[in-house]
Amino acid sequence: FVTLLKKDVDNLIGIHCIAHREALAASDAAKKIPELLFVEKLANKFKMVKDMQLNIKKIVNLDDLAAGHNKRRIIQQAIFNELCKMMDPGKTPYTPKKGRPNVIMFVGLQGSGKTTTCTKYAYHYQRKGWKPALVCADTFRAGAFDQLKQNATKAKIPFYGSYTESDPVKISQEGVDRFKEENCDLIIVDTSGRHKQEAALFEEMRQVSEATKPDLVIFVMDSSIGQAAFDQAQAFKQSVSVGAVIITKMDGHAKGGGALSAVAATKSPVIFIGTGEHMDEFEIFDVKPFVSRLLGMGDWSGFMNKIHEVMPTDQQPELLQKLSEGTFTLRIMYEQFQNILQMGPLNQVFSMIPGFSAELMPKGQEKESQARIKKFMTMMDSMTNDELDSANQKLMTESRILRVARGAGRAVKEVKEMLEEYKRLGKVWSKMKGLKIPKKGDMSAL
Ligand code: GDP
Repeated sequence: FVTLLKKDVDNLIGIHCIAHREALAASDAAKKIPELLFVEKLANKFKMVKDMQLNIKKIVNLDDLAAGHNKRRIIQQAIFNELCKMMDPGKTPYTPKKGRPNVIMFVGLQGSGKTTTCTKYAYHYQRKGWKPALVCADTFRAGAFDQLKQNATKAKIPFYGSYTESDPVKISQEGVDRFKEENCDLIIVDTSGRHKQEAALFEEMRQVSEATKPDLVIFVMDSSIGQAAFDQAQAFKQSVSVGAVIITKMDGHAKGGGALSAVAATKSPVIFIGTGEHMDEFEIFDVKPFVSRLLGMGDWSGFMNKIHEVMPTDQQPELLQKLSEGTFTLRIMYEQFQNILQMGPLNQVFSMIPGFSAELMPKGQEKESQARIKKFMTMMDSMTNDELDSANQKLMTESRILRVARGAGRAVKEVKEMLEEYKRLGKVWSKMKGLKIPKKGDMSAL
């Protein structure tokens, strides 16, 4: 990790090319920059941020920057880039492969949201046409099996567990074997939650891992964990080979700074974030909005700047108005789909909204995603103007859905899938409600 930081510092030196590095530490100008103050707060909590803070102070010499440079912007950008790099361990996580049984084991502290996340993960893949199954290997916590059973039943996902068997190794082995026989392609094993000091439970986790030979071990972490994050994540990594991280409860107040520690300790990337208690409140991890939020820049600051950068001024007010009203109609979705398909500059803009492009157009699956978006658009072509322009999500009754399905020559299920997507994107969109529209380049309004 130190090597990684050192490399980053070298890069930054290259970019900013500063002669008198120490000057910044004493610079009054630097002290007034909110991002630096924030990094200072973060640094008190997380060790690796402290190193980064020192490095940034050393390399960005505000006094030496020519007048007219936006100093705050330069500092902000340097910190932003550093944090983005820290979130990238330089390793692509295992992604489930079609046509074989992928075994995914979930580990994490009790209460971190592990059981909930197992179902969210299964549901996410189920919606994409996978055949997931859940195995409850948590025999430690009373009620764990019932919880998993309840979640799984709601999502119509097969599950395996036992009220009487107390050996988690046996249960997990049996569960995985059974679902392999049933040709499930994503077998998810939920293990007992634990605290760092519980050596016996760590040993149990190791044995479950040995018995089920997971393709991927996912460490689930609560975003509010704070200072303890590094040690906890490291303790898990030492027992099983963690390959990816999921951060939960990002809908709460916590900014999720612990994720930096989790990535550093496990040398694994964050792959998803949990944004609520419900099954569909789960998003593919997207580093830029995450770091924006961490820095308190507001999720939308980069987004707003990008809009000003790439969009003709005369078109800005209309879109911004729609955004600040928070109303999301099917017609707006249609227009955004057009933008995404054109891969024009606006696509860059929307890639900055969490949940928009990363979900709609995951890297490496552009072709499939484009086909899906086009399919959605043909279904929307069979809708009436009233339906497209209504902000009432309940307007699409069963009979209207049936009519659209017939008109577009698609199954009712597919129209419903499109409406689900509309609901999901509407949630993302509604976060923009009440957004103050800053003037070009002025981020302080956010
Ligand atoms: P486990 O002990 O790690 O298996 O944790 P659970 O899955 O039982 O979750 C603990 C609590 O956190 C439950 O009340 C969940 O509903 C809640 N929870 C899990 N993920 C999220 C999330 O992303 N957001 C919110 N708000 N709550 C969550």
